[in-house]
Order: sequence, then C-alpha cells, then structure tokens
Amino acid sequence: MDRINEKHSVMVYIQENQGKIHPSSLELLSQGRELAKVLEAPVTAVILGSRVREHLNTLGEHGADGVYYQEDPRLEVYGALPYVKILDRAVEQLEPEILLFGATLQGRDLAPRLAARRRVGLSADCTGLSLAPYEGGGPILFQTKPAFGGNILAEIVSPRTRPQMSSVRQGVFPLGPPLPGRKPAVIRDLGVPLDLGDFALTLLESLPLPRRNGLEGAGIVVAGGMGFQNARDFELVYRLAEVLKGEAAGTRPAVDAGFIEEGRMVGQTGLTVRPRLYFACGISGALQHRVGMEQAERIVAINTDPQAPVFQLAHYGIVGDVKTLIPRLIRIFSEAPQEEK
Ligand SMILES: Cc1cc2nc3c(=O)[nH]c(=O)nc-3n(C[C@H](O)[C@H](O)[C@H](O)COP(=O)(O)OP(=O)(O)OC[C@H]3O[C@@H](n4cnc5c(N)ncnc54)[C@H](O)[C@@H]3O)c2cc1C
Repeated sequence: MDRINEKHSVMVYIQENQGKIHPSSLELLSQGRELAKVLEAPVTAVILGSRVREHLNTLGEHGADGVYYQEDPRLEVYGALPYVKILDRAVEQLEPEILLFGATLQGRDLAPRLAARRRVGLSADCTGLSLAPYEGGGPILFQTKPAFGGNILAEIVSPRTRPQMSSVRQGVFPLGPPLPGRKPAVIRDLGVPLDLGDFALTLLESLPLPRRNGLEGAGIVVAGGMGFQNARDFELVYRLAEVLKGEAAGTRPAVDAGFIEEGRMVGQTGLTVRPRLYFACGISGALQHRVGMEQAERIVAINTDPQAPVFQLAHYGIVGDVKTLIPRLIRIFSEAPQEEK
C-alpha cells in the first residue's frame, strides 16, 4: 500500500513493556487486518514508550498500514495520565472507526479511561469480534462477551459513537504470520506536548508478578473437570500432560475443589487458550468453560455421559471413564516413538 487514507482505520493500541510488544497486541493486529478487509479501511497501530521506534517496522510486518508513535523517556513506565492524553489526541486527529486493546492489566486501565474521556462505548474483555450490517446500514462491530454471570454470550454494538472500542483477551484470535520486509505506508510521531501535570503520579517501585505457567501459549493442553472426583485421580491429568509435553489445566469447580491451582483455570474467569490439541477430560462443556477453549484447533473429549454438551464442540469424542481411559492413553503415548508424540 503506497498511500493510505489515515482516517476511519481499524486502530490497535500496541502495548510495549521493557522492549517487548505484548503478544495480544500482535494478535489484534492480525484480526484488525481481517476487519479492515471487510471495511476496506487501513489498519493502524499506536505505540507509546521510551524506546518504541525499533518496533515500527515490526508492526508493518504484522499488518499495520500506518504506525503512530510517541517516544519519550518519561513514557518508559505506563502512566494513565500521559497515555490517555496522547491516545485522546490520536483519536481526535485520526478518527478511527474501531479501536482495539488487549484485555491486559494495562488495557483494562487505559481503555475505559479513554472511552470515558471520548464519551464512547467500550466492550471490555471480549471473546469475539465480527462485522455485520446493522439496522439497514453498513457493517458495524459486533462485540461478543459473556454476560449475566456468564450465562449468555451477549453481542454488543455501538452504532452511534466512534470509535467502536473493545478490549479483547489474549488468545482469542490467532497470530497471523508476519510478512518480512512489509513496511507501514505511514509512520508518524504524534508529538503530543506533555507537561508536569501529566506526570503528577510517580511510580516508586514495581514488583514482578510470580512467574506464570506456560498454559497460554501451550501447543497441547490436558484439562480435567469434576469427572475426576478427587485430587488423587486428577493427578492423571498432570501425567498425561507431562507425557505429551503439554500443560495441565482445569475447570473452575476443579480449581475450587483444590485439584489444580487457580492460574491453570480455563474459561470465562480463567484463561483463554488456543492450543493445537485440547483434551477435555471429565468436563461437561459448560458455556463458561467453552469460551476459554473452543478456539483450540482440535478438541478431544472424554466423558461417561454421551449427552454431555462437550461432545457438541469436540472433534473427537470418547464415551468412557477417565480413570480407565487416561492411564491407557498415558501408556500408549509413553510407548510411542518420540517424534510421533
Ligand atoms: C460467573 C461464572 C463464571 C464461571 N467461570 C468459569 C470458568 O472460567 N471456567 C470453568 O471451567 N467454569 C466456570 N464456571 C462454572 C461453569 O458454569 C461450570 O459449572 C463448570 O465449567 C463445570 O465444570 P466441570 O465440567 O468440571 O464439572 P461438571 O459440570 O460437574 O461436569 C463433570 C463432567 O464429568 C463427567 N464425568 C463424571 N464422571 C466421569 C468419569 N469417571 N469419566 C469421565 N467423565 C465423567 C460428567 O458426565 C460431567 O459431564 C463459571 C460459572 C459462573 C456462574
């Protein structure tokens, strides 16, 4: 793309921290391209920080037609006041049609502040985005998120205000392959003046969170539910995960029962995963669990109840008892030659 109309784009906020772009930002750029194709609009990216120029071409390779940045040593650590001010100015100038944030800690702080300032709607923590015509008009953004205690999947639209703003969980959309050498058609310094008042809050210390498990990026996930009935039997989930070189996960009741730690919960109140292979063992397939795993490439379900809802989304279903089937799977996979695992 040689030149772009910079206005009415699908804009993605790129979260950068200590020289690294957050993976959810690149996933959103990939999805931004899909949305932009339908709208015949450009994809733009906004990135703020103390050393962000080194990322501008990477953003082009991941699909951005226009990249807007502001580099300032005072932006090294995220601060709501200067970040909202700069984004507010960017939105005012560029009038994006859609603005997407990762539903990270930073995204959850930044997006609502910006939405309030611009007096526009925001759908937070979405698990799906699509475009469809609305009330006889052109396509607008349908933002899917669990609502009413997770009992329904609500579709939310913002037909009257712009930009249509959403924050989206990591793992909801696949990360498209980069196009090496693809450069953004526009790279522009936003150059928003910042003053002392924007830095009225000073960060004194930041403590790293305890190291997280590798569940979010895992290629194989073995998840267990209440079909296991006790923590001793649930050990089978860990053993199968180990044999497959995957990660163990669980449903919320399995976490509540103490079978598995909270950081390994998949679903609406837990993590969203997108592995190549997901084993749902002794899991009923409730909506609140489904939203966290239904994007898996292949789902294998094991359940004693042939009517269990999990079989509706599974690619392969095995009706049977986890306590007898999983030890057999462990044996088979342990004996399989390494490269076939
Ligand atoms: C606001 C809210 C948020 C929630 N968030 C989440 C969330 O993030 N993640 C989540 O997982 N849940 C969440 N839940 C809970 C969710 O609604 C379900 O209750 C939960 O997913 C069910 O877990 P389960 O499948 O382990 O248990 P169950 O629904 O009890 O299912 C157990 C399954 O095991 C099968 N089974 C029994 N014995 C065996 C056996 N020996 N071998 C094989 N199969 C067997 C049964 O047939 C059954 O299908 C949430 C609920 C609410 C209200």
